[in-house]
Amino acid sequence: MSSKPKPLEKILEEAIAAKKIIKVLYNGGSQPGAVRRVAPVQIDGNKIIAHCLSSKKQNEIFELDKLHYAGNVRESYNTDLDLPEGDCCICGKKFRKREAYMTYCKDCYIEKMRAEES
Ligand SMILES: [Zn+2]
Repeated sequence: MSSKPKPLEKILEEAIAAKKIIKVLYNGGSQPGAVRRVAPVQIDGNKIIAHCLSSKKQNEIFELDKLHYAGNVRESYNTDLDLPEGDCCICGKKFRKREAYMTYCKDCYIEKMRAEES
């Protein structure tokens, strides 16, 4: 990779604007150092609010200085080949289950979380 790493805040702002899911390494919370998949919602000073798809928690608060960008989720799609396939119970699409308990696809999951907010 020849491009310079982007500052974390810029990455988060882009992810919020594009409703992207990113991977982050968080040196806090219940599992310090764990890589999580999050959908950032808002930056609030030194904190970011994000839906954590790894723990299925909405509006989790992460401290910015303990957070490290660990990549875009799309970049890891090749690892999905090892995951079991299922039918989404909402849209009916086939999707790779990142977690065994998942019954609907990532898109429906995000939709659902956003709908539950309001
Ligand atoms: Zn779906």
